[in-house]
Amino acid sequence: MGFKLTAQEGQRLTTCMLAMRPDWTKNNPGQMLASINDGPGFPGKDFEHALRALAQYATARGGNGAHQYRTPEIYPREGKHWTDTGTADWTPPKPAPCPDHIGEPAHACRCCHADVKAGIRPAERIGKHYEPESEEEE
Ligand SMILES: [Zn+2]
Repeated sequence: MGFKLTAQEGQRLTTCMLAMRPDWTKNNPGQMLASINDGPGFPGKDFEHALRALAQYATARGGNGAHQYRTPEIYPREGKHWTDTGTADWTPPKPAPCPDHIGEPAHACRCCHADVKAGIRPAERIGKHYEPESEEEE
C-alpha cells in the first residue's frame, strides 16, 4: 500500500531525522524505519515526500512551544504531516473498503459493527464478507 525506500534512502532519511532531532537517537529511528519499510511501507508518494513530511513532523511545535512529537513513532503512520506535504498528483492511500458495505472502511465499518450488535454478524467478520447461513438453502 505505502511506498518503500531504497537502502540508501533509508540511511539518508535516518540521517536527516537525527540531524533535526538529535534527541531521537535513543529511539533508534534507523531500525524503526527499516521495520516499516519491510512491512507496510510509508503512507506517502516518494523519498522527497518523506523528507517534507519528516520536516513538518520533526519540527512541529505544540501550543506550549515544546516539540509536538516527543518520539518518531507516529511519523510512519498516516497523518497531517503526510497529507499536508503531498504533491497535487498524489492521493493519500485509502483504507481498504468493507466488501459488504459500500463507502465504509473495512477496519472500522460502522455497518458491520451495527450488525454485530444486532447479532446478525459474528465479531470476527467485521470488515470481511459475511453471508449468514440461510434456512432456505438446502
Ligand atoms: Zn461492513
